Amino acid sequence: MSTLASVSRRDFLQGASGLLAVCAFASGDAYAQPANAPTSAPEVVDGFPPPRLVGRPMPEKVQFPSPPERRVGFAVVGLGDFALHQILPNLSATKSCRLAALVSGNPEKLQKVGEAYGISKEHRYGYDQLEKLRDDETVDVVYIITPNVFHRDLTERAFKAGKHVLCEKPLATSSEDCEAMIAAGEKAGKTLMVAYRAQFDPYNLEAVKMIREGKVGTPSLLVLDHGRILDPSKPVDQWRAKQALAGGGSLFDIGIYSVNGARYLLGEEPVSVKASPIVRSGRPEVDVEEQISWTMRFPSGAVANCSSSYLVSGRKRFHIQGDKGDITLDPATDYEVRNLYLKTMQGENHSTQELEIPQDNQFAPMLDEMANAILENRQPKTPGVEGLRDLRILEAIYRSAESGREVKLA
Ligand code: NDP
Repeated sequence: MSTLASVSRRDFLQGASGLLAVCAFASGDAYAQPANAPTSAPEVVDGFPPPRLVGRPMPEKVQFPSPPERRVGFAVVGLGDFALHQILPNLSATKSCRLAALVSGNPEKLQKVGEAYGISKEHRYGYDQLEKLRDDETVDVVYIITPNVFHRDLTERAFKAGKHVLCEKPLATSSEDCEAMIAAGEKAGKTLMVAYRAQFDPYNLEAVKMIREGKVGTPSLLVLDHGRILDPSKPVDQWRAKQALAGGGSLFDIGIYSVNGARYLLGEEPVSVKASPIVRSGRPEVDVEEQISWTMRFPSGAVANCSSSYLVSGRKRFHIQGDKGDITLDPATDYEVRNLYLKTMQGENHSTQELEIPQDNQFAPMLDEMANAILENRQPKTPGVEGLRDLRILEAIYRSAESGREVKLA
């Protein structure tokens, strides 16, 4: 029998743990010498010291949010579906924003949401108290999430109260109102940003990057479709069914994603639009346009064929075709799910690749852009004029649908 073989397992482990302890002590390893380690030798069970709780070094690449006192305070105006399901939960996922105040016309809801998010009574307001925000130093930005027709008035009042404004899409119900809102911001020396979340979505950003890198060659033909069933029996669709509150139909609500999308995917402004006649179902409770399709022409020669409908379900698709391949985002503008595909041609053959995007939050980066634009005293990526440009195009689409003619854009 050899010497090694004659050492029992227990003796070997005790010897090994002793050696390890000496090495760890010499190297200062926190596992072996926690700050609160007892001075007496640890009880050894079957050759192993018992596990201890110890601190370890900071993991690599940790990204910290700003400390609360350096974050930008947001007052959320209108506690409806989008505010409660998407914006309030995502404010806590930001690095530079904090919820500071709530504005609502429903006192019970205001109290419930305030209690849930820790917003005390003195930072809860009714619509008739918006001017009081002037004295609320916790608020820097007023985020307007009400039916479209109220966007202009609330924006102007927020600017008068000395606050910056983040406003939902469409920025307003007419280009004239958009111009007035931009002018009000300039007069007040405050920032106006339109909340185009898709422009902060990692999937859409990757699609833009691939187009700029020439992955599809020269983009020539785009197809952009949005559709969902409008159901006026649901509270969220009651105002959308009324021209006086929504300012327009499916085009203003979801077709706007295609207008804005074609512009940022191509990085160009359209020179003309031509629309097909408006489609209406004839439902008595709906007085807005329910379906429309149109074509936008761009200076490069690219053409975007678009549709927007309240009469078809579940369409949120962008398709960009070039001479070397194509990109599909489907869905392109969903809250939760986006899929991105790149098809490239090699001679007669093609290969399709689905791209994995690890970070998929689009709301937090949008909110942080508003905050950072203020902190860095610069224009945001989607300033008021971005909303104005889209409104001018939406108006031209309706004019074309009415006249049957192509409408040139200045
Ligand atoms: P909701 O109907 O769910 O909420 C609107 C809220 O506005 C209401 O809950 C209410 O808040 C307030 N409001 C004040 N006056 C009225 C009125 N006369 N009729 C109805 N509501 C009123 O709508 P959404 O949250 O879906 O849409 C709000 C805005 O957000 C719109 O501009 C829309 O285009 C935009 N939006 C943007 C999205 C995006 O992806 N960027 C997605 C969805 C919407 P309270 O009860 O607190 O007073």
